[in-house]
Amino acid sequence: MDKKRLEYYKKKLVTRREELLRAIARQEQEGREADEDPTVDLADKAANSYTKEFIFGQTHIDRSLLQLVDDALVRLRENSFGECSACHEELQQKRLEAVPWTRYCITCQEKKEQGML
Ligand SMILES: [Zn+2]
Repeated sequence: MDKKRLEYYKKKLVTRREELLRAIARQEQEGREADEDPTVDLADKAANSYTKEFIFGQTHIDRSLLQLVDDALVRLRENSFGECSACHEELQQKRLEAVPWTRYCITCQEKKEQGML
């Protein structure tokens, strides 16, 4: 892949990383505030624990994605970005455009999802 494209994906990844970090910080803050809210009665408490569960689930998703983005940035530094980690074919631009942190081509991704990889 040429330098310009690499730079382009790097920018995308870094931006995404910052968004995720902000989202995670916000979710943690909301989780703490849900804990500290002194006005809660019983019904609120139920709603509250639901909210917290939801926040926790979302944080978990964001953290997993953050890990993928971080891994992609490592691959960028190590010059292995843009190739499939399994078959080492170059990834399609369209796929990288949609999910720049992906590490598998579509074929290998499908195999992986079916437990064949
Ligand atoms: Zn592949």
